[in-house]
Amino acid sequence: MKTANHDPAAVAASEGALQRAHALATAFLSSLPGRSVSHVPAPEEMAAALDEALPEAGSDPAGVVDEWFGRAERGITASPGPRFFGFVTGGVTPAALAGDWLASAIDQNAGLWASSPAAAQTELVVLRWLKELFGLPEQWAGALTSGATMANLVGLISARQWAGRRLGFDAAGDGLAGQPPIVVVASTEIHLSAVKCLGTLGFGRNQVRRARAPGGPVDIAALAALLKEIAGPVIIVGNAGEVNTGHFDDLSALADLRDAHPGGAWLHVDGAFGLFAAASPRLAVLTRGIERADSVAADAHKWLNVPYDSGFAFVRDAGILREAFAAGGAYVVGSDGGWDPFTHVPEMSRRFRGLAAWCALKAFGRAGYRTMIERCVDNAAAFARWVEATPAVELMNPAPLNIVCFRVVRAGLDDAASDDLNRRAVRAIQQDGRAFVTGTAWNGRSAIRAAFDNWRTTLADVTLLQAAVADVAKDLPA
Ligand SMILES: *Cc1c(COP(=O)(O)O)cnc(C)c1O
Repeated sequence: MKTANHDPAAVAASEGALQRAHALATAFLSSLPGRSVSHVPAPEEMAAALDEALPEAGSDPAGVVDEWFGRAERGITASPGPRFFGFVTGGVTPAALAGDWLASAIDQNAGLWASSPAAAQTELVVLRWLKELFGLPEQWAGALTSGATMANLVGLISARQWAGRRLGFDAAGDGLAGQPPIVVVASTEIHLSAVKCLGTLGFGRNQVRRARAPGGPVDIAALAALLKEIAGPVIIVGNAGEVNTGHFDDLSALADLRDAHPGGAWLHVDGAFGLFAAASPRLAVLTRGIERADSVAADAHKWLNVPYDSGFAFVRDAGILREAFAAGGAYVVGSDGGWDPFTHVPEMSRRFRGLAAWCALKAFGRAGYRTMIERCVDNAAAFARWVEATPAVELMNPAPLNIVCFRVVRAGLDDAASDDLNRRAVRAIQQDGRAFVTGTAWNGRSAIRAAFDNWRTTLADVTLLQAAVADVAKDLPA
């Protein structure tokens, strides 16, 4: 049926605002190679630029977009650009960006099949492609999430549901009160996002039992000894890519421990960025055994290079995943047998994230991702070699993948002064504006991290990072 409800003013307002956004976006993108990566503005400066009471009267949509950009620009980091090495950060690819814009324009609710069969089916295809890209079993269930934290939550809620069933109760239905405790084991390097999830889940952030992980990978004998003390079902959280220095737990060994545990065990793997090693035949040795996991969490806004926010979770047992999240209600019926994403994630209504991921995967293909991932790892290796060859800096740990952890060294400083120098060095490199790095602690010492997972980064960018680090290492007063 055709309807004629033409509103030329609304169409013109949309077009005007979109044209402004388009002009601002293309100017920003073309400025990326040259612009300062960050201005590091003070909170007071940003508050002065942006804070105000809710306006009483409205204004023209195109002018609104323009005004925001002008007022906020000092606080916009060039994080999608090639020299943002902070945290673990990707930068949107052209196809992903176009897909993301279109997702906003068509404004689909990707929670239910009935509200957007296109969004639900696209998400299913994206999940299939991701399993194919990483060599994960095609039968695994999954869902897109807002990031790896939510993907960890999806995996760990499934684990909780499984453990409850082993112990004879329904965790989602009846809750945990009065039930035997469910034990979680991991390494000392468990990511804080997984710890956050354990708090959300009612396990408690402080209850996770941690085995030592000298050098990054968990000590398998120490983990086995921990498991020996636990009679009941256990959730094992493994690291595929520890965030400080990029090391991997031996996932095959973790799967063996899972299989051998008398009370039963669930293996959840946090592969936020490390899962991407599985897309490269050269690097896949790092993730060996991941296909034996019970659940896997990863990020799309990191190494898939799609815009925030985007992640994904896979769970081997589709029935457990549905049990954890399924909810019925009179008003959500009518999906005609189609797939309802909301029965696989905490949310109901949700953004159509699948479109940006679909466009990104289609535009690069398997070969494009493999090449980009290997280039990032080569860039990290080049930087690590430079660190090793440069007396003013030292490597904190070998770099097996895409994260290089290092520190500035200066003769004549005690540990405290040296740690202080390194904390200030992070800030000084950020303020320099050529490259952006972030700080951490490794083996009890302050350190600096550079993570390589942006599709745009070239060896020339690595050279600029080196120059910025070398200048700060030389000039920063002790
Ligand atoms: C980034 C990261 C997370 C958290 O991911 P978000 O997308 O920020 O929620 C979890 N685990 C690891 C290993 C990470 O690197």
